[in-house]
Amino acid sequence: MSLFDPQEIAKVQVFEGVDPVLLAPVLEQHAREVTLAPGELLLSPEKENRHLYLVLSGQLEVRVKHIRGPLLRRVQAGESVGEMSVIEHARPSAWVLAGNKPTRLIAVEDEAFWRLVERAGVVGRNLMRIVVRWLRNNTENLVAQWERIDVLEAQSYRDALTGCYNRRWFDEALALGVQEAVEAGGEPLSLALIDVDKFKTYNDSYGHQAGDQALKALGQCLREMARSHDRAVRYGGEEFAVLMPQTTLEQAHEAGERIRRAVERLAIFDHAGVPLPHITLSMGLAQSDNESTPQSMIDHADQYLYEAKQAGRNRVCG
Ligand code: GH3
Ligand code: MG
Ligand code: MG
Repeated sequence: MSLFDPQEIAKVQVFEGVDPVLLAPVLEQHAREVTLAPGELLLSPEKENRHLYLVLSGQLEVRVKHIRGPLLRRVQAGESVGEMSVIEHARPSAWVLAGNKPTRLIAVEDEAFWRLVERAGVVGRNLMRIVVRWLRNNTENLVAQWERIDVLEAQSYRDALTGCYNRRWFDEALALGVQEAVEAGGEPLSLALIDVDKFKTYNDSYGHQAGDQALKALGQCLREMARSHDRAVRYGGEEFAVLMPQTTLEQAHEAGERIRRAVERLAIFDHAGVPLPHITLSMGLAQSDNESTPQSMIDHADQYLYEAKQAGRNRVCG
């Protein structure tokens, strides 16, 4: 009389196609049934494991990082856990716990399992198929995670309101751009610092939400006006920047004037689609030379921005 139900054993993937005459005596001598309470811990990286566990009913959860960490996968009836520690003689790489129901398992001693692999080639083949399926799953998971990281990284460099690059991106890009321009000793990098004129009054007159709509429209306009190599940045508040690689001061002036004129005419609407008054901006320019640093570029552009304000606003200086 077998200890285990042959029908249940037949459903275990790692024993698929194995002759029951070969299997039954090994299981009777070297395997035992285990029942876990819901949430009970089975495997942990802190404890050696010398068994392969076959799930008969219920469900196991494989968690990483810590015992309550992210769920890597669920192990259903017919599947197994412990393959890695049995194959490598190493500790488990994750925490394995029973799901929210009592979970019945067969624990097979690793030495007996290896004898089975030697005697029934199909067990080895099944094991390979199981492990390869995991590898494929893990690769798919990794690709999905990388794609997510790409999206998050792209978001982490953008300003949510205006869609422009943010200050974090700007600080890195300016440092890199200045370094490249100085090292190359050739074509300069130009920087435009932009500040919306009398924006406090705009907010005070039409409300903060209208101000936000204006900044949003301005951000979109800057992105559209920027030439293919140029990058529009929200520097902070109502201050923006445009980074213009391989651009002389003269060319930056032309680009800046185009932007200034476009913003002057830019249509702005509130949330209900009602038109709001136009805004204007002042702009200060700087061009890199052999001695430029990110700070000297900002200081120069800021000085000219101040001049543009002093000279009556809605103008480009530099
Ligand atoms: P100036 O022409 O000299 O630049 O005058 P200004 O009023 O634009 O300058 P000031 O620095 O006094 O005011 C800037 C205003 O911009 C005040 C602040 O409330 C507003 N502001 C900054 N960030 C935001 C934002 O995200 N949304 C809105 N609605 N307003 C903002
Ligand atoms: Mg300002
Ligand atoms: Mg301002």
